[in-house]
Amino acid sequence: MCINHKGEITTRVLSVPSAKASFVKTTIERRELRPHDILIDIKFSGICHSDLHSAYGEWGGGIFPMVPGHEIAGVVAAVGTDVSKFVVGDRVGVGCFVDSCGECEYCLSGEEQFCTKGVINTYNSLDFDGNPTYGGYSQKIVVTEGFVVRIPDSLNMDVASPLLCAGITTYSPLKHWNAGPGKKVAILGMGGLGHVAIQFAHALGAEVTVLSRSNDKKDEALKFGADHFYATSDSDTFRQLAGCFDLILNTVSANLDVDAYLSLLRIDGTLVNVGAPSESDNFHVFSLIMGRRSIAGSLVGGIRETQEMLDFAAEHGIAPMIEVINADQVGESYERILKSDVRYRFVIDISTL
Ligand code: NAP
Ligand code: ZN
Repeated sequence: MCINHKGEITTRVLSVPSAKASFVKTTIERRELRPHDILIDIKFSGICHSDLHSAYGEWGGGIFPMVPGHEIAGVVAAVGTDVSKFVVGDRVGVGCFVDSCGECEYCLSGEEQFCTKGVINTYNSLDFDGNPTYGGYSQKIVVTEGFVVRIPDSLNMDVASPLLCAGITTYSPLKHWNAGPGKKVAILGMGGLGHVAIQFAHALGAEVTVLSRSNDKKDEALKFGADHFYATSDSDTFRQLAGCFDLILNTVSANLDVDAYLSLLRIDGTLVNVGAPSESDNFHVFSLIMGRRSIAGSLVGGIRETQEMLDFAAEHGIAPMIEVINADQVGESYERILKSDVRYRFVIDISTL
């Protein structure tokens, strides 16, 4: 069935008027459907720590008012005339970006996040017409079909939403750096990203160690598939684990003692950063030289890989542990995320908006 929605679409949103301001409920207009556009009724929207960095203006260059949200799960409500991938009623997801040039080498190889013309982020970006993009703390969104993925039937919509960012951001580097049988992988930081990373690394067959500040999350880490758990507040941890890991996936939102973590890598090991604190990190080059080690970073993942990740999660029973909140609790949830008082992802029930 093709329903061609005519005219701009008014939708309720949660918006931040300026950096660090409180959320307000308001309305915005989504664009009229173009031939390849899909209108999505959003059901659930996950809250990523990147939403805090952005809404608090920590990364600079924020576009306000801002409607955060890039972990979007919903149902197709209407499709443009030339849409071929989806029909009304399909369960779909949208992650961190909603458009790219489609022509550069990275777009052509399915790594749209590295588009040389600049990927268009789901929010806090300007689209190719120069209009600001607004994210998933919203009842409806319009996205071109190439940037929409299918949520497998076995994944509940609320649980699926965090996979659209936390899932792909951890799955992609684990695959890229060959986490698998025979590899010792450490997941550093057990928050929204980290707790999903444990599940993926385990399902990929790696030997998984969790490095967390305290022992509080140990039991849950083991349930998610971790083989070992160490508290980084225990100075003995660094002595015990020296030279141990092939790969450390750093999901921490704050700056760390990078040299201390590099010392935990084997020869040729890699420390991959996905955590994105606003201040620069420091490390001593000898920490790399002495073990031919690498330090690297990774940015979400392309659309094709995002679909692969969702299918993999469905197949392996991987699911974020979530706390569903209503639209009035978002400000308070940000405060709780800062205190690491979340197990492990807040998800907004958009019907409460
Ligand atoms: P989160 O739920 O807040 O988890 C971060 C975890 O880091 C916490 O649970 C905590 O784990 C640890 N941590 C927090 N503060 C710390 C501190 N001061 N010192 C040491 N450890 C600390 O955040 P998230 O949503 O997983 O996001 C994590 C980071 O990834 C953010 O910076 C976010 O912007 C970034 N991110 C990057 C990408 C990308 O494409 N690269 C995509 C999404 C998110 P423990 O309690 O276990 O110590
Ligand atoms: Zn995110």
